[in-house]
Amino acid sequence: MVNWFKGGTGVLTRLRNIFPDPALPGHQESMVERQALAVAFGGSAGDEALTRRVHAAQVGAILRLAPYTFFANLFNLVILFLALAGTFPFWLALTWAAAVLVVLSFGLRSWWSNLKRPIIAASPRALRAATYHSGILAALWACGPLGVMMTDDPSKFLVIACITTGMICAGGFVLATVPAAAITWVAVIAISAACTLVVEDTPVTLSILVLLATYCMIVIGSVISTSRLFVTRFMVEAELHRRGEVIHLLLNDFEQSSSDWLWETNSAGVLQRASSRFSEVCGLPPEALQGRRLSEMLAGAKDPANGWGILAELMEHRQAFREHPVPVKIRGEARWWALTGRPAFDERGRFKGYRGVGSDITESRRAQDLVTYMAEHDALTGVGNRNWLLSRAQDAMAEAYAEGTTLSLLMVDLDNFKAINDTRGHPVGDEILNRVAQRFKTVCDGRADLARIGGDEFAVLHVSSCREETERLATQLIEILDQPITTEHGGHAIGATIGIASTPGHAETIEDLMRVADIALYRAKRAGRGRALYFEVEMEREVRERRELENALRYTLERGGLSLAFQPIVSARSGEVVSCEALLRWEDPGFGTVPPSLFVPVAEEAGLIVPIGAWVLQEACRRAMAADPQIDIAVNLSPLQFAAPGLVDTVRQALDTSGLPPQRLILEITESVLIQDFGSTATTLAELAALGVRIALDDFGTGYSSLSYLRQYKFDRIKIDKSFVAEIGRGGESIAIISAVIILARSLDMEVTAEGVESEAQAEMLRLMGCDTLQGYYFGRPAADFPQMLPSTPARQASA
Ligand code: C2E
Ligand code: CA
Ligand code: CA
Repeated sequence: MVNWFKGGTGVLTRLRNIFPDPALPGHQESMVERQALAVAFGGSAGDEALTRRVHAAQVGAILRLAPYTFFANLFNLVILFLALAGTFPFWLALTWAAAVLVVLSFGLRSWWSNLKRPIIAASPRALRAATYHSGILAALWACGPLGVMMTDDPSKFLVIACITTGMICAGGFVLATVPAAAITWVAVIAISAACTLVVEDTPVTLSILVLLATYCMIVIGSVISTSRLFVTRFMVEAELHRRGEVIHLLLNDFEQSSSDWLWETNSAGVLQRASSRFSEVCGLPPEALQGRRLSEMLAGAKDPANGWGILAELMEHRQAFREHPVPVKIRGEARWWALTGRPAFDERGRFKGYRGVGSDITESRRAQDLVTYMAEHDALTGVGNRNWLLSRAQDAMAEAYAEGTTLSLLMVDLDNFKAINDTRGHPVGDEILNRVAQRFKTVCDGRADLARIGGDEFAVLHVSSCREETERLATQLIEILDQPITTEHGGHAIGATIGIASTPGHAETIEDLMRVADIALYRAKRAGRGRALYFEVEMEREVRERRELENALRYTLERGGLSLAFQPIVSARSGEVVSCEALLRWEDPGFGTVPPSLFVPVAEEAGLIVPIGAWVLQEACRRAMAADPQIDIAVNLSPLQFAAPGLVDTVRQALDTSGLPPQRLILEITESVLIQDFGSTATTLAELAALGVRIALDDFGTGYSSLSYLRQYKFDRIKIDKSFVAEIGRGGESIAIISAVIILARSLDMEVTAEGVESEAQAEMLRLMGCDTLQGYYFGRPAADFPQMLPSTPARQASA
């Protein structure tokens, strides 16, 4: 009865300790049985009240049969009266019959009073009274056998024998619950019958006596067994009843003292005996719960994924469950319960329903949900984070596979964000990220999953049936940032570049999908930001080759395999070599001659440009120091080198080690250094100028060519890009542009160098326009040897 308490909490464990087992254990049972016989004979059960109740039950059982006994006796009386009529004097027979009736009426009277007010407690005296009553009645009936002695009629003899036998048997059984009364009855009638047999002394006396004795033994044996069984059952029931009351008390105490409650269903899942505590948590009066199914209480039962789906299955299979979380709806509010339950079965093993304990776990569940939310969401923008994306992608991949659709991963990188974040500060950067996320959300809402996976990197998962759909999504993501994002610091132009990869097709695993989408993003960024590019197998090969190139470059740098070539820069007027430009050369045993246009970006990406640049500075200064002191040396600086800390120190060290006078060193930087103003550009330029070195603005006219830079920073030299020089003689605006630059440079006291001079005509034109210095194949290709002071032949001609 209480086995479902196993493993219960608090009070339930206490209950188990009080009642180790639902049924009475074996040793206790045999003890009760032994005691039961004594109690049946009027002994005590140890508990006085219980003893009195047992005795009352014993007597009550006889009394309940009193009407039947009365009529059976009456019937026997009539038959015996008729059988013995004439044998005895009539008055004697009448007196005897009257005596029997009087005794019987006592029994009937007790039956009647018991019917009106059932006796619930009786002393051993009641048992004794029953015994006396049955003794007296038996003694009266004993006259029947004795009457045989006075008759010779064999048919009457038969009647009396039958009645006597019946009396022994029926009386024994009717009185069985009070064994003393039953035994007295049987003994008195049997003894009188035996006496009659002995006195009559017929040829069958002995065999009938044996028969009679056996007969009595059986009846008495069964009386004893019945009475013992009767009392045992009564005592066990009383014990169970007592336990039931204790349990009831404890359970009440449990419900009142804890926040948990008990629940019970029948085999059809309908709630039974709903307690007040249960009705309280359900928000319904106990009557309203009556007849309701447990499943009705649990919200969202249709969704098999939630706690109830699993619970329903467990209950279907009659399995026990422990602290199973299920969502419920109480007065319209979504809450969580934890249910513990066990199936209950009756003695025949038939399912009776479930019993269990429930508790409200809404608060802890909410806390847990918050933790889960935080583990899966980006705290700044509220969209998913990388972890969430990975797990979501896993599911989406399986879905796409099952449905035959395509899962695309869009890696979104924000353009221009880092510069704003660095210059405007992190609070502004955070606000911009948040605003961007909200805009992306409006695009993705309902059709794609959005996550922020890095500083300014977002990722979008999109399931589609065709590529155009995904492309449209990508375009919308880019276009939604067309409008600048306004903060209190003004408008910020932010763009998005997207790399897309799909499965099936580009990758089989989520890790691969992310990797190839990253490659596509990388290519998209290189192809010019603000666009979306789909991954192509070709890109992977490119990346691989780039990585191989990077490894080889690193190896070459370590081995000192890089070298410098020097290209002369001549005076436009005299044609004399006045300086030269150091150009990096890489001759690789595997890759052959790798042009700087190819390996310099690789070095920049791999972070190798800083050590390489330092080496170039050292080597160029050393070689210049060893050559003609009248020829200056120009060294190219990468924007990354310029942004990296320690450039000024590196330059100073190169000068110190080589002993080269600073005024002989010219550092060439490009406009990109000025555009991507890293905050420290002006300072670095000033520090370099303080060292005494000169600064040249390289490739002028290619990039954004803002003339304002020329006013903003102090340059010593401008190098007009070779693309303008190549235009000379082909018409176009190049001559006008070059002239304008030269006039501006003059006014700002800057030297002008024209690059890429390949012909005499170009050289002549540039000289006429007023260029100070010229550089190009016409005057000399980059060569391993440091140039000599003497002008080359074409230069001399040009100057002539
Ligand atoms: P740059 O600074 O503009 O260098 C001049 C480039 O023009 C050199 O190519 C040179 O060989 C080429 N050139 C010179 N005269 C002519 C001509 O008459 N016609 C044509 N078509 N080209 C001419 P190179 O050596 O291949 O270098 C390419 C770029 O690599 C350089 O452009 C420079 O930006 C970069 N670079 C080279 N060495 C270094 C270095 O040590 N450090 C850094 N950071 N970059 C370097
Ligand atoms: Ca240069
Ligand atoms: Ca150049």
